[in-house]
Amino acid sequence: MPTILDGHLVAQAIRQKLSQQVGEIQASGGKAPHLAIMLIGNDPASHTYVKAKLKACQEVGFCTTLMQHETIAEKDLLRQIEEVNNDPAIDGLIVQLPLPQHISVQQVINSIKPEKDVDGFHPLNYGRMARNLPAHVPATPLGILTLLDHYNIATSRRHCVIVGRSSTVGAPLSILMGQNRYPGNATVTLCHSHTQQLSELTRQADILVAAVGSPGLITAEMVKEGVVVIDVGITRVPDKTRKAGYRLQGDVDFEAVAPRCSHITPVPGGVGPMTIAALLLNTLRAAQNRAYTAD
Ligand code: NAP
Repeated sequence: MPTILDGHLVAQAIRQKLSQQVGEIQASGGKAPHLAIMLIGNDPASHTYVKAKLKACQEVGFCTTLMQHETIAEKDLLRQIEEVNNDPAIDGLIVQLPLPQHISVQQVINSIKPEKDVDGFHPLNYGRMARNLPAHVPATPLGILTLLDHYNIATSRRHCVIVGRSSTVGAPLSILMGQNRYPGNATVTLCHSHTQQLSELTRQADILVAAVGSPGLITAEMVKEGVVVIDVGITRVPDKTRKAGYRLQGDVDFEAVAPRCSHITPVPGGVGPMTIAALLLNTLRAAQNRAYTAD
């Protein structure tokens, strides 16, 4: 049977360490890191993610500010971002995506002060990351790298196939996995909806990352024996047997694929908790003014 890459467990260990660090900062007269979250609209999944992010912050002793609007004009949102940019008490800011259609995501991202952009979406952070310079790295790719590192999974000389090229997950991960460091030094193939013969490529993967949002897309026939599978996908699938009326499903047909893997992430409990842990790590770096200094 494969090793389950337990994101809950690793994230818990990260939170414990962060909690200690916050204690040390406060003991030496410093202030706890402070994350502000802006949540616009009524998307149920966004509300769930924000709740989980706030809970994780509180658990490690970070201060939080939630700015929530059922609806807001773009100019008012940009003004509020500017206020947070100029507020020395706040170290990190995220605007939960997706945003309502009348708001330009790019405008919003561009308006966040790069030092406070703990989601790592600002072009300056993205560019620094791509140049292998210290930067706020997007939380999901950072969480995946941290998980690979925790389980000592070899990446050098291995073929990493990533399905999904979003600017928040697949594309930045493809850059990071190809860089000259660990985890990295992989040969990377980035697939998307225009990729032909996807199965031929996924079958070559030593490390397969699925970040699509298509439940069960990756089947047993699409992977080779011994592959490491990272399932980023989270989709709410209607399920009347569940109290919530839905269950969360990944992009990988877990039951069929797991027996062929050396390692695999579960959904939920794999990449999700690691994403939140990575956000906490970025927020601490922001609070310590370490976003642009090497570790
Ligand atoms: P996204 O922006 O919708 O991107 C999906 C990507 O999948 C696109 O690049 C798309 O190709 C590609 N794609 C769609 N159908 C495909 C197919 N049949 N074959 C190959 N590629 C295909 O999604 P995202 O934001 O990256 O999120 C992906 C999934 O991860 C979602 O389920 C999301 O909820 C989940 N997620 C989880 C976490 C976490 O913490 N666990 C974090 C972020 C996202 P094109 O570019 O050609 O359209």
